[in-house]
Amino acid sequence: MFCGMWIPVVDLMTCIGCGKCAEVCPDAAIAIVEKKANIDYNKCTCCGVCDRVCQTEALKLISPQMPAVAEKGAQLETLKEDLKMLKQGLVKMKKEVRG
Ligand code: SF4
Ligand code: SF4
Repeated sequence: MFCGMWIPVVDLMTCIGCGKCAEVCPDAAIAIVEKKANIDYNKCTCCGVCDRVCQTEALKLISPQMPAVAEKGAQLETLKEDLKMLKQGLVKMKKEVRG
């Protein structure tokens, strides 16, 4: 499930597979697979408990609002500008047609 501002993410390079995060997860959303923590986002409720017990800092809560969303916002602004230019062009063309 997508829970809002933060989601837990595991850095597989740093994770040592100690299993502490899996032990404390109240939703049984973490399994240790091939010595690495594996989060089931269908079960995770983003409570943040796992983030507090990870001693290697492999598991962190990050904001999913990210560049992708910011980028979309920027794209929207660009589109608005384009639309404005088009409208101005149309008005000019109309005036020219009318003479
Ligand atoms: S944020 Fe909470 S529910 Fe999600 S994996 Fe970590 S301990 Fe489990
Ligand atoms: S507590 Fe940290 S190091 Fe241990 S399994 Fe979980 S993510 Fe990996």
